[in-house]
Amino acid sequence: MRIDCKHVWEHISAYIEGEVDAPLRADIDRHLETCEICSAVLDSTRNVVILMADDRVFELPAGFSKRLHARIDTELEASSG
Ligand SMILES: [Zn+2]
Repeated sequence: MRIDCKHVWEHISAYIEGEVDAPLRADIDRHLETCEICSAVLDSTRNVVILMADDRVFELPAGFSKRLHARIDTELEASSG
C-alpha cells in the first residue's frame, strides 16, 4: 500500500511511540526513506516527544499539533517552490 504525507502525519506520534501495526509501520518506513518533509516532521516530533517524556508528561502541549501543521504547510510551500 502506498501512503501519502498526510497519512504519515496522522500516525506520526503513534509511530514514534511504537503503537502502529507492523504493516503500517513498514509503509511509513518506506515513505520516510523517500520523503524529506516527513523525515523533518518525524525529527521535530520526536524531539518534542522526548522532551515531554523527560518531564514525565506524555501528552503533547495544547497547540502543538497546530504549530506542527503550520510548519508542515511551510515545508510544503518551500518544497513546491
Ligand atoms: Zn511525506
